[in-house]
Amino acid sequence: MEVPEASVVRVRIAPSPTGFAHLGTASTALYNVVFARQRQGTFALRIDDTDVERNRPEYEQLIYEALQWLGLDWDEGPDKGGPYAPYRQSERIDLYKQHAVKLLAEGKAYKCYCTPEELETERRQAQAEKRPYKYSRRCLIDPPKDRTEFTVRFKVPGGEIKFTDMIRGEMTFDAGLIGDFILVKSDGFPTYQFASPVDDSTMKISHVIRGEEHLSNTPYQLMIIDALGYERPEAFAHMPLILAKDGAKLSKRKHPESNLMLYREQGYLPEALINYLALLGWNPGTAQEIFTFHELVGVFSFDRVQHAGARFDWEKLNWINGEWIRAMDDAELAKRLEPFLPSLDEVTITRAVPALKTRMSKLADATEYLDYLWQEPESPTPDADSTERLKLAAEAIKDVPWQPEPIEHALEGVVSRTGISKNKLYTPIRLALTGKKVSLPIHYTLALLPREVALERINRAIRS
Ligand code: GLU
Repeated sequence: MEVPEASVVRVRIAPSPTGFAHLGTASTALYNVVFARQRQGTFALRIDDTDVERNRPEYEQLIYEALQWLGLDWDEGPDKGGPYAPYRQSERIDLYKQHAVKLLAEGKAYKCYCTPEELETERRQAQAEKRPYKYSRRCLIDPPKDRTEFTVRFKVPGGEIKFTDMIRGEMTFDAGLIGDFILVKSDGFPTYQFASPVDDSTMKISHVIRGEEHLSNTPYQLMIIDALGYERPEAFAHMPLILAKDGAKLSKRKHPESNLMLYREQGYLPEALINYLALLGWNPGTAQEIFTFHELVGVFSFDRVQHAGARFDWEKLNWINGEWIRAMDDAELAKRLEPFLPSLDEVTITRAVPALKTRMSKLADATEYLDYLWQEPESPTPDADSTERLKLAAEAIKDVPWQPEPIEHALEGVVSRTGISKNKLYTPIRLALTGKKVSLPIHYTLALLPREVALERINRAIRS
């Protein structure tokens, strides 16, 4: 059966490689991929790299790496090609020029020769007169004859611009409030406001799903699509902004949580971050909080996306990550832990997994829990009571089979025989073995060390 053109779903993200990969990019990518998979559509990755000053190829690599880590794979992109290549804006400069020439020829755009100083004077005057600034159209009405350097400005036609936002419903903007804006800068590079709709049109994007900060750009871009005679995308969706805990917009500079790679470094599972990002701004309408990507594809809908900004919440993320860790198969978890425990062999990691599962909220916690296995702890000298307890413990465990269960059994025997509380008996052992008051369950803390090493550390504490 032939699929009618209008129902072909093509979505895209268009990140700019101007810094580390941003959490917002992952969130936008997620909603785009989920929507594409729901509708058997195509997800394209376009690199918005016309900001020559700030773009770096290594930042582009970081975007790929981050999205791949999250499993948010794209169907078309600079590295994969596709029917609408190239997918890097810097390689599409001629295309933007052709479109600008067309608009100029049809009188829908004009050359503006004003210098930045002249424009600044106009702007200041508007400010002094307390009216919103709009370009005066000086170069449309009476272009200077003696100048050569120019920008290309769009001649805003005025009227109302309406479009459907899948979250906010029908939107209407008054184009009368929008001044003629620049499409091509004097260096020949397009502005974002021009390149983006040219690309969305020529790449046949059917739904533009992006952050709310772009809501006010949509009327500009629709005017350009109309002026070029292209068909508009079917709909837009402007996703809520991700805010820091204090309600401020997440900024690359001020908020480390905006850096996507930080999550990988700290040992958040990509599945858990996807789960968390989905719930940040969207609610399923049920009590379910743990979702696989596959489940999200089944239940996600734009009408359950909130309008207000979504505050980032580490506690919730940690909880979701912990849930994913606890639900994970031991062998798989051991594999994921390897990069965090380079000093340990596979066998030791595998033995530690059941205990780690009960305590970890992120994989990097494992380093903190297990570093006593590869480095000597700095243990404080126990007081007289603690020394006595260490002696009782050492005596009880010195000959038991060196496995968590018999060790636990032996220590519990001491507790029931002497009436010493578990806390009072176990804390000195923890301190002697790890130098820390918090550790994995005591029988694991002991069993993960070779018996002689564990007993030697306890005896050393007794002697100190
Ligand atoms: N380069 C823009 C950004 O990074 C793209 C916005 C859009 O999706 O149109 O936010």
